[in-house]
Amino acid sequence: MKHVIIFSLFLWLLSSCGIENLENGDFPVGTFDYAILNGSVIDGTGNAEYRADILIRGDSIAFIGNIDTSQITARIIDASNLVVTPGFIDAHAHGAPFEDSFENFLSMGVTTILLGQDGRSPVHRLVSPSAFFDSLENHSLPLNMAFLAGHGDLREALHLSEKKSLEIPEIEALCQHLEQALDAGCLGLSTGLEYLPGALAQEPELTAMAKTVGSHGRILMSHLRSEDDQEMNNSIEELLNQGKFCRVHISHIKVVYGKSNDRAQEILAIIEDAQSRGIQISTDVYPYNASYTGIGIVFPEWAKTKKDFDLVRSNRETELRSFIFQKIMDRNGPEATLFATRPFTGKTLAEVASESGQDFVDILLKIGPVGASGAYFVMNEALQETFIVDPDIMISSDGGPSLRHPRSYGSFSKIIEKYVVNEQKLSLEAAIHKMSGLTASRLPIADRGILRQGFKADILVFNPTQIQARSTYANPYVKSKGLKKVFINGSLVIDQDSILNLDSGKIIKSM
Ligand SMILES: [Zn+2]
Repeated sequence: MKHVIIFSLFLWLLSSCGIENLENGDFPVGTFDYAILNGSVIDGTGNAEYRADILIRGDSIAFIGNIDTSQITARIIDASNLVVTPGFIDAHAHGAPFEDSFENFLSMGVTTILLGQDGRSPVHRLVSPSAFFDSLENHSLPLNMAFLAGHGDLREALHLSEKKSLEIPEIEALCQHLEQALDAGCLGLSTGLEYLPGALAQEPELTAMAKTVGSHGRILMSHLRSEDDQEMNNSIEELLNQGKFCRVHISHIKVVYGKSNDRAQEILAIIEDAQSRGIQISTDVYPYNASYTGIGIVFPEWAKTKKDFDLVRSNRETELRSFIFQKIMDRNGPEATLFATRPFTGKTLAEVASESGQDFVDILLKIGPVGASGAYFVMNEALQETFIVDPDIMISSDGGPSLRHPRSYGSFSKIIEKYVVNEQKLSLEAAIHKMSGLTASRLPIADRGILRQGFKADILVFNPTQIQARSTYANPYVKSKGLKKVFINGSLVIDQDSILNLDSGKIIKSM
């Protein structure tokens, strides 16, 4: 509620002083930084495109409507025959805010990313989350960044990374640390329940954290406990329990080994049913059919750490071997695991096995649960596509500058190229909404994601038919192409695919 009031006040301030020379019905007069003329405006709300001019002054959209160019001074951008949209917001992104240049995101029109995913967050890398934000404040950012607190890191900070059921005082300490991160400006909390230490978390711990998130009006975003077909309903149910106390979100929704549109519809029905019971749940998806993660994903829970693995190898080897064999076969076989780390980069598990004349299980036992990462072709196209075109599911990349998967450099462009232009499964308005306004409304981010007077000037200008996602599994680090202009906070950051500056981003905090 506090949030809403501050936000309304903010809009009122902007509307009362942003366009000081504009009377009702008159054309704007005066000096502006940019005038984007004659574009087809797709404003991010999902509404139909309309022709309008846009004025930028400072970091904000000063005006949208019709301009008499003789009345203004501004750098003119002719957007005739082009669309003008909000910059895209990536609901699930990875990267190192102090090191990476994040050009992969810029090349696909992403102007805001949400970091701190899957239970792991850079905000815990320094003494405290507020120290992290202070230090980042003095660092130039290529694009806007928002952050979640990370459940796994919170647990580690309290030396609880190996403990299964936590005692009440430990849970309280965890919640206090979470509270500090939320007070410092994190948009919410992420959990990674398929990874350690998140996988150890039990219901009392998760419920307590959800209550803390809820009492601050924030969001809990979760990499579910399991994304396997037979576990998926239970995993969602677990998150819905937390959804009684706060807004919840399923990260990068997928049904591993699930098949068909019907199965996707079942999942959507579970989500809709929860929404009809008053639970606020949202989700995001990336447009690729292979996942990417550590090789630990094919090891059993009792052999996911180096320590457990070493122990198990001596006393449960037969059981371990048959688990891994079955897991790989369930995951579409050794051809469907593509290594992305040395020394097997670019080869499938099947190729490595046949080249070395060894069984694929032996290869995996040599690598161990923490020894490699890869892409896993475990998703069904018909099933995932139902999520990708669903009007209520936001688009994410789950990518990062150095994450070896084509989604890192291609997700948002692929939505336009494949689903809008080539296959026409999404209208451009619906696609843009899923990549901007929808995401902003759910996180929420108050003044971005929609083209509206007073909002921040994160703006794209392009011809949809020229957008190209060029990254592939073999060559994942290839930037997208086709953007004419990208503005971030009113600065021109991309001009005809060339990046002009890497310092126009801002930290986005929730207060
Ligand atoms: Zn994840």
